[in-house]
Amino acid sequence: MMTGISERAAQYLREELLKRESYTVLVLAGDRTILSVQESNPDWHLAGLEQGLTLPESLSPLLDVSEGAPEPLVFPYVRISGMVIDVHVLQGEGPVELVLHDVTEAHLKEQTLQQRAHEISLLSERRAVLNKELEELNRELLLRRQQAEKASAAKSRFIASMSHEFRSPIASIMGYADLLRTELPDSRNPRALQQASWHLLTLVENLLEQAREGDENVSLNLSRFSLDRVVDDIDALFRTQADGKNLEFIVESSPHGVEIELDELRLRQILINLISNALRYTFAGQVSFHAEHRGNTLHLYVRDTGRGIAPLDLKRIFEPFTRVGEDNSSGAGLGLTITRQLVDRMDGKLEIESKPEVGSEFHVYIPCPRIHDTDSEALPLSGEVLWVDDDQYILSLYQVLLEDWGLTVHTASSVAQGKELMKQHVCPVVVSDLHLTDGDGFELLKEIWAEWPQTEGIIISGSEINDLSHGSTEKQARAFLQKPIDLKVLRSELVMAFAGVDST
Ligand code: ADP
Repeated sequence: MMTGISERAAQYLREELLKRESYTVLVLAGDRTILSVQESNPDWHLAGLEQGLTLPESLSPLLDVSEGAPEPLVFPYVRISGMVIDVHVLQGEGPVELVLHDVTEAHLKEQTLQQRAHEISLLSERRAVLNKELEELNRELLLRRQQAEKASAAKSRFIASMSHEFRSPIASIMGYADLLRTELPDSRNPRALQQASWHLLTLVENLLEQAREGDENVSLNLSRFSLDRVVDDIDALFRTQADGKNLEFIVESSPHGVEIELDELRLRQILINLISNALRYTFAGQVSFHAEHRGNTLHLYVRDTGRGIAPLDLKRIFEPFTRVGEDNSSGAGLGLTITRQLVDRMDGKLEIESKPEVGSEFHVYIPCPRIHDTDSEALPLSGEVLWVDDDQYILSLYQVLLEDWGLTVHTASSVAQGKELMKQHVCPVVVSDLHLTDGDGFELLKEIWAEWPQTEGIIISGSEINDLSHGSTEKQARAFLQKPIDLKVLRSELVMAFAGVDST
């Protein structure tokens, strides 16, 4: 193991390191005359240090203070001829020697570091001040936010009361217009009155909707209503306007006689916005409106042969109070903004296709519960039903109910028992719980269909499911009813199942 560097290495290092340094060694006589001057390299020379001269005034005092001091004594950072020098005083035996070592560069570096440290400490002081200001600003911000929230709550209350104030008189005008229509069936005036009221109601609703924007408490007002009624009203509302512009106005819906559950007023708002635009921006040809319910989706589409919308404008038209194209027509530029907000709120989708000078198509897809036959309540029920559920209370409850409705009910509590009963009675309609102790309702239906393919199946369950085929591409269950079962819906499904009507 090495205990130190060899003499050879030490010698080498000394020489190498010395080569890099600039220094002068002075040997002094007792009267401080310079006896000899040795400089490290020819470029390095300190003025006034010549052999035979007396030690200059700048160095002499150092010798005074170092007399008798233990050596070597070092005076750092002495300024001589514009340079910074460490002065080492070697005294003792023999003449006094001074080693003058150039440390200008190191001194400069040190000064720069000190400067940096100073700057950093200034910065951190500044940061502390800024942090304090930030805290103040945050406090102020919080205060302002609380004030804004208060103001927004006041705005919501104002909107709620205004909407009531507006809607009530409009509703009463509409009601009287309705009455007038029955009293004066041949007059066009009541209808015009009704049309204007609808328009006014939509404008008011658009404005209120815009004012409510950002208010997360706004909820949809769900109700059950007839899709046919809405479509007929829309037809009545716009036909005069279409006739007045000599436009062909096509209104279609399918299937007929169905009920949907949505926010009716907002659905009407969407339709009025889209159709009034189509009529406003179409000058010849056709405007058509289709309402279709398929599966669990309501598809509305409005097509026109109007002036169309330029591709660049398609994005802008949804911005509030934005109108595009040359336009003398009235309009606040809010219709499409609101329409999109409403469709979003209903978890729906809005799509547009438009070509300038050719026309536009607006498609709206809104998820909404299955259609039910509006008239089914009135229709009589008779026939045999197999009801399978492993909950005895449910079985007894629905047995009583269905028998009240005029049906003969066979009850089973398992897949196996269900199959047995089916063999005995061959019921045209089977209602089964999804989860059974020995299998599931879809399995039971599949086995039944294998033998009696005409059987109609209804699945009930506490969980949500939309895939009535349950992975199979063959026959599907006609309905999936979620517990608690809506009796109106159940009755209407049974009516349609016995009639063999396709409900989707
Ligand atoms: P406005 O009250 O101006 O009709 P909207 O938000 O309903 O406001 O529509 C914004 C703009 O989109 C309209 O100014 C119009 O230029 C254009 N637009 C909307 N629907 C149609 C359409 N069916 N055909 C042509 N342009 C349309």
